[in-house]
Amino acid sequence: AYDAGAGARPTPMMEQYIEIKAANEGSLLFYRMGDFYELFFDDAVQASKALGITLTRRGKHLGEDIPMCGVPIHAADDYLQTLIAKGFRVAVCEQMEDPAEAKKRGSKSVVRRDVVRLVTPGTITEEKLLDPSEANFLMTLGRVKGAEDGRMALAWIDISTGAFRVVETAADRLLADIMRVDPRELIVAEPVFHDASLRPVFDMIGRAVTPQPASLFDSAIAEARIKRYFDVAALDGFGQFSRCELSAISGAIAYIEKTQIAQRPPLMRPEREEEGSSLFIDPATRANLELVRTLSGSRDGSLLKAIDRTVTGGGARLLAERLMSPLTDAQAIAMRQDAVSFFLSEQQLAERLREELKGVPDMPRALSRLAVGRGGPRDLGALQRGLDAARAIAALFSGRALPREIEDACAAFARLPGHHAEHLDRALGDELPLLKRDGGFVRAGYHPELDEMRGLRDQSRRIIAGLQAQYTDETGIKSLKIKHNNVLGYFIEVTANHHAIMTDSDEAKGRFIHRQTMANAMRFTTTELAELESKIANAADRALAIELAIFDELTSEAVALSDFIRAGAAALAVLDVSAALACLAEEQGYCRPMVDASLAFNIVAGRHPVVEQALRRQAANPFVANDCDLSPQDGAPHGAIWLLTGPNMGGKSTFLRQNALIAILAQMGSFVPAGAAHIGVVDRLFSRVGASDDLARGRSTFMVEMVETAAILNLAGERSLVILDEIGRGTATFDGLSIAWAAVEYLHEKNRCRALFATHFHEMTALSEKLARLANVTMRVKEWDGDVVFLHEVAKGAADRSYGVQVARLAGLPEAVVARARDVLHQLEAGETSGKADKLIDDLPLFSVEVKREQPKQKSGDSALLQAVLALNPDEMTPREAMDELYRLKKLA
Ligand code: ADP
Repeated sequence: AYDAGAGARPTPMMEQYIEIKAANEGSLLFYRMGDFYELFFDDAVQASKALGITLTRRGKHLGEDIPMCGVPIHAADDYLQTLIAKGFRVAVCEQMEDPAEAKKRGSKSVVRRDVVRLVTPGTITEEKLLDPSEANFLMTLGRVKGAEDGRMALAWIDISTGAFRVVETAADRLLADIMRVDPRELIVAEPVFHDASLRPVFDMIGRAVTPQPASLFDSAIAEARIKRYFDVAALDGFGQFSRCELSAISGAIAYIEKTQIAQRPPLMRPEREEEGSSLFIDPATRANLELVRTLSGSRDGSLLKAIDRTVTGGGARLLAERLMSPLTDAQAIAMRQDAVSFFLSEQQLAERLREELKGVPDMPRALSRLAVGRGGPRDLGALQRGLDAARAIAALFSGRALPREIEDACAAFARLPGHHAEHLDRALGDELPLLKRDGGFVRAGYHPELDEMRGLRDQSRRIIAGLQAQYTDETGIKSLKIKHNNVLGYFIEVTANHHAIMTDSDEAKGRFIHRQTMANAMRFTTTELAELESKIANAADRALAIELAIFDELTSEAVALSDFIRAGAAALAVLDVSAALACLAEEQGYCRPMVDASLAFNIVAGRHPVVEQALRRQAANPFVANDCDLSPQDGAPHGAIWLLTGPNMGGKSTFLRQNALIAILAQMGSFVPAGAAHIGVVDRLFSRVGASDDLARGRSTFMVEMVETAAILNLAGERSLVILDEIGRGTATFDGLSIAWAAVEYLHEKNRCRALFATHFHEMTALSEKLARLANVTMRVKEWDGDVVFLHEVAKGAADRSYGVQVARLAGLPEAVVARARDVLHQLEAGETSGKADKLIDDLPLFSVEVKREQPKQKSGDSALLQAVLALNPDEMTPREAMDELYRLKKLA
């Protein structure tokens, strides 16, 4: 069918392929041919490489071989998953008619085909393609011309659950708002895509950014589009949306229409988030604090992993969402805390709830698959079990005084469609097949005609068994069998040596009608068998048709009720999260923080939630709890700044991070790892911790540090919490000190925020004399026999020295290097060389000479080591660089 020969016109099929492919530029085309999706030309080359499958050739196009590869239908989901994960988009093109139909039109005519769906990272619904504990959002960015000061809106949809939200945003929080949702795909209008001012944002999000025609975002026709999708006459019931919000919402809907083609996944009405209702966490902070994944991208080691005790997919998704978007409204936070408190005081109830929840399937995702025609009997089964569980769970809470969150959840259960649950119970069998076309999922006794047809089918099968016995008797052929295949249907088979009996006598000839001769067998049928056959086939067909009709009926009933079912599922997720947070609090000894509108930040005996658990797992020394009080002191109008000094490895970063994490946990409504905590709502959280590796983008570590610091100093206000770790270490000592110094002054005088500032510049502790709200604290260490022992205790005061040499020794630097470093340090501290490295070189004998004396065997490394040491300029180095350099020297030695 493919071979058009050299230079010939393309075959009709290739013509069709080329036309469909042209209409779907930018996507790989999965072209359905029988039991395969085939890919051709460059698609085949790309896909075979990405999937590791064989690239072959089929036929010719314009005289050239056509590269081709194919994936079997039954494994298509796995291949799709790989392709989507690798950043491809896939257009799925199906046969829209039976090939027999096409033949009827003429031998040359091609089966009608159409793209039924575009698969993109943000529009998947398949169970296999989705992570149960992660939302799968697609997001649009709406922007309208003439909107004042560049205001924009973001809308995001999870079509696997129907969740739909929108928020207005501005240029300075755009990236933060995108990152807190963490969409799989961002869709923007073409002009926006090409707007150079937004390019850095698109580059930062690390997800696919897909440009689309501006018409999708046209705010003038947005209302009409939204009304059409939701089938409503007016948008009054949806709330008030700004023009850019309408544009974003409409863009999201248009994109769904474009990718889902004929299907309309039921979405919830777009829910508007108040700007600023969630804690602003700038993107660098979000990444560096490792909230949902670590800097290296793994979930292990993240805060989410450490606090997740949920038992359902929906619960896990809600927990992640809350962690990504902590609240800023003290009352809303208290409501969540009340639910956690409730489960802490009702632990038996919490345990029973968690037991019930464990088996609860993912109703929203099952519902979405059903709604877009990709569901199967097991998705109906998921709804059935989910609704049953919701009923059982609702019963657990009846007759109790409940906090608001739980009461609201129970109210959602009460609105669940009981008749639908009951209908599913009656209709669905116990064992459900994956595919509806396999049939057998409707319970016996539900539909009389179905039972009758199944009876007929089964009975006929028994009659056939009887027939076989009868024919064996009549013919005396013991090996006679009645068999079935798809071509002949039922037939009688005898081995070749017996066929004479079946064909010799006239009587037998009239009875056994010859159908087929095989190498060593002969096949016959009889009128009786043919009649039975059609009876069975009819009964089976009819039975399946009835089952499919029942499937459709149950599906449309469920889809019509999707708002209620989703609300019920959301309520289950809320209960799961609340009970899980209670479980965590109990297990880890967390306390309920007091969160209010003050500017307090007083953590008593706080711990780092992730490090604490890690130390326990390693059975290491337990975590040392530390206080942190940045509350306004002695009637001051603003919060305090703590300047934290102490040696490397003393626990400075851990302390800084733990306080940021405690603020996040408190505002997401969780209990916190502390003895007691009082937190005045933080509206913006900034941190500059660790070195986020931005080298790939061509910015030096120091540049990144300064960009991030600039953002903090420009944006932090009195409600902010700022965490700064070792500002200025990326440059020469005096530069670094000056920058750090000025930054602290600015934070104190201009930003007036609550802040923790860790530094190795001990000179800065002098600032406390000048700045009223600045206090010095230090990580305590004990010196013992020339070694340091880290106590990990935060104490008032300043560190007297940095113990870098001792730490280097702990790290295993050669004794000679340590001894030499000690000498250098003495000289430096004595002030004799104050900043003059050449003096240092003159005054001190080079230690490599000593090394030689001590270890005469070493030869080859010496000159390299000497060169390296000579090249050093200790005065221009930060302690960190010195450490790195020492490591390098050690390698040379
Ligand atoms: P610094 O930032 O001062 O170099 P870190 O915060 O990186 O130090 O801490 C170094 C190590 O000390 C951590 O890996 C951690 O295991 C341990 N540590 C830090 N704080 C504590 C603590 N409060 N209790 C117990 N161990 C701690």
